[in-house]
Order: sequence, then C-alpha cells, then structure tokens
Amino acid sequence: MLEIGLTGGIGSGKTRVADLFAARGAAIIDTDLLAHEITAPHGLAIPALVEAFGPQCLRPDGAMDRDAMRALVFADPAAKARLEAITHPLIRQLTESRAAAVRAGGRHPYLIYVVPLLVESGSWRQRVGRVLVVDCSEATQVARVMSRNGFTRPQVEAIMARQATRAQRLAQADDVIDNEGRPEALAPQVERLDRLYRSQAAAAPLHTAD
Ligand code: ADP
Repeated sequence: MLEIGLTGGIGSGKTRVADLFAARGAAIIDTDLLAHEITAPHGLAIPALVEAFGPQCLRPDGAMDRDAMRALVFADPAAKARLEAITHPLIRQLTESRAAAVRAGGRHPYLIYVVPLLVESGSWRQRVGRVLVVDCSEATQVARVMSRNGFTRPQVEAIMARQATRAQRLAQADDVIDNEGRPEALAPQVERLDRLYRSQAAAAPLHTAD
C-alpha cells in the first residue's frame, strides 16, 4: 500500500490538511490523536504513568494532566525520557495495528500517517514511501498557535525551537502543501496530490513500508 507521512511544524495546518484527505477517501492515522487516546481516562498508558509519576500526574477525570506533564518534562529531561519510554512504544503499537487493519481492509487507496515530528525521527522517514510537508511561515505558525491554544508568543517560540526548522522540513519533502494563505487554498492542492497518490498507488500496488 502507498503510505505517506504528513508533517509540518506546530500550527502549520496538518489537521486541516489531513481532514481534507480523509474527505477524499484516504485512510488517516494521526499519531497525535493516538497520544491523546492512550492518555485519556482508562487509556493504555495510564497505569504505567501512575506508577512512574504518581497519581498527581492525573486529572480528577483520570486523564493524564497534560499541562502538569508538559511543565514537568520541560524542566526535567529525565522525566521526559521516562514519559516517552511509556508513551512511544504504545503509540507505535497502536499505529502498527491500525495500519495493519487499513491494509487488510482494502477500502482505502492509500494511507497517510500524521506525524508532527517525522523529520526529527529518522525511523519514520524510512518507513513511509513519501513525505508530505504542510508549510507556512514561522510568523504564521506563531499567530495560529497563540490563537488556537491561548499560548503566549514565548511559549509558542519555545515549542518551535525544539522542532525542526522550516528549511529542514522542506529539505525532506517529496510534496509540499502551501498553507500560508486562506484555508480555501488548501482544497485544490489536496485534490492535485490525491490524484497523484491514487495514480502512484495504482501503478505500484505492492509498494509497502516494509
Ligand atoms: P497543526 O495540526 O499543524 O498543529 P491545525 O490544522 O490545527 O495545525 O491548524 C492550526 C490552527 O490554525 C487551527 O486553529 C486552524 O484552524 C488554523 N488554521 C489552519 N490553516 C489555516 C489557514 N489557512 N488560515 C487560517 N487559519 C488556519
């Protein structure tokens, strides 16, 4: 199956673009959503999180307290490593089982993984057939995330400083969607790529990630 990695910096518009591909029939596996799923109440990661960080890492509803954990790992690299040692293998497992279901289902022309840190993680680059980057200027990223998340400018800039740069991301791209402009500009770009991916999938039906 043709498998594509969709990435972009925070606030670039990955979610919007993924939704447009889903509307055209693509299978989407969003690793950010999986990260939320495993840390939701009764999520797969919750028992290990409580064991590692104590019950104070949870909110009253039993979900991981994301704000508290973000503050903790920001200040403490060892805590970040412990958190990732719990969450990353679970996200990988879920990604793999969902991808296997998509491949077996035969209902989708191609599969898109939404991976915020694809460029930063070498293993992802190797397991996808193509990399699609959603691109916009850094100033636009900052403005969008300030308004979406209610973060301050320094908060957004601190997150961006720990992600790949725009140039590093573009250097890895097979395909680029320009999301600097209005949201309406996305649909024709998605349509063009959907046609390309469908024709590639038809030309190389046995192309898989492994
Ligand atoms: P990501 O998933 O890459 O973090 P989102 O798709 O959530 O990005 O987009 C970030 C924010 O910016 C969201 O609030 C979204 O609605 C908004 N947004 C995305 N694209 C545009 C655009 N072209 N014009 C204006 N706002 C946009």
